[in-house]
Amino acid sequence: MKFAQEFRKSLQQEGYPQKWIDSAVPYGHLKKCLKKVTRELQEIGLDKDTLAQLTASERDPSAVAFHYHLEGKATDSNHFRPRLTFFVHLKDGVVVDAELTPPTRDFLKHIASKTQEPGDAPPENDPGQAKPAADSSGSPHTPPSKEESLSIQQVEVPLVFDGEFFDILQNDVSNLDALQEEEQDKLGKEITLLGQDINKATAPSKGRRARGDLETWRNIFELYLDARIFFSTRESDHGSRTSAQAVEQLRWFQDQVLSKKLIHGLKLENSRQAYGRFLNMNALLLQILKFQEINNIAVTKIIKKFDKRTSLGISREFPVTIKSHRLLAGSVAKDLCAQMSNELISVVPQLDDYLCPICFVVAYWPVRLDCQHIFCSRCLVKMCRKGERFCPLCRADVIMRAGLEHFDNGRAAYLREYFPKEVKEKIRANERERNREIFGPDYSDSLCSVM
Ligand SMILES: [Zn+2]
Ligand SMILES: [Zn+2]
Repeated sequence: MKFAQEFRKSLQQEGYPQKWIDSAVPYGHLKKCLKKVTRELQEIGLDKDTLAQLTASERDPSAVAFHYHLEGKATDSNHFRPRLTFFVHLKDGVVVDAELTPPTRDFLKHIASKTQEPGDAPPENDPGQAKPAADSSGSPHTPPSKEESLSIQQVEVPLVFDGEFFDILQNDVSNLDALQEEEQDKLGKEITLLGQDINKATAPSKGRRARGDLETWRNIFELYLDARIFFSTRESDHGSRTSAQAVEQLRWFQDQVLSKKLIHGLKLENSRQAYGRFLNMNALLLQILKFQEINNIAVTKIIKKFDKRTSLGISREFPVTIKSHRLLAGSVAKDLCAQMSNELISVVPQLDDYLCPICFVVAYWPVRLDCQHIFCSRCLVKMCRKGERFCPLCRADVIMRAGLEHFDNGRAAYLREYFPKEVKEKIRANERERNREIFGPDYSDSLCSVM
């Protein structure tokens, strides 16, 4: 299937809002405009084959070379003007380059002669006219000598339709950027709201059901983070996912939630509704990603086509020149995922953030050393006994200074509230360990086995 068709079909099938479809890359329009560009080039003898030949012979210093690039307009950072500059070899005012066909030579001679006559010099800033430009030596051309009157002249070829082509493209990319920004804002607000709602519904002070839901949310979010749906922070596959990968990962996450019967674990109506909103949010993010992807492909394709039809070789420069903070930068998924983890997932505290760095169990009782690092009281006691003085994390000389005032009571209360199960287990483990220290290594919780 041709890309134009494929593009149209995918825009229709994905259920995008009409507003999105209306602002998609106008691929057909650009193709029509490209036709005008090729016709314009053909008319002046610079068809794609001629230009391809010139590109191939660029290394030969005696040959004509040209330079095509996009020049930003100082006044308007969102627009740029393409410029086609030729370095023409003239001998007594005649173009001598062997590769060129007679009509091309005639054309170049014509615009070169225009730039040579001071009386004919076009006014500055007139893009419709060829104008003289200084070559690297600073003079428009080498002064002719008696024997050899060979000179190199730099002339700009005035084109109209390539400017139109890039204007259409840049305008559309800017519109798409604006649309993505709008969607990102909307979704961002929804993330904030959902975070607040989950927080309200699951505050442990609201009773046993809220505590139970908090536990379930923690499991859900743990799975969600494991799925790394839109963005991976793992070294092996770091970076943004393609929409196809994201679909897979999202499916895995939903399957896991179902198979672990986590939705049944949500006892509060508010929580169940919030889970629905959470899924919708992910579906929308996926749609944004897909839309971004297909438009990105359209831009790449049309630029490639431009080069294929003209041999002007713009595809290397184009992605750098075009101004796009969202569409081409592909930052939307990354930004939204960052926001999700800051404002949504962090609402439900994860155990990982509260582990003692020595025993990897919840740091209870928490002792905050002068260096601000937190350890469980058991590990600290053991370090003291061994006569260790330095914090294992930052090597500060703080351990011997730790006293009762270093118990972090606020954090202890927080841990009891948010991780009641883990805290209970840790207290039991601490007791067991202490008892073993007192009664010897054979000590067991169950007194029966001793008797
Ligand atoms: Zn510890
Ligand atoms: Zn420290």
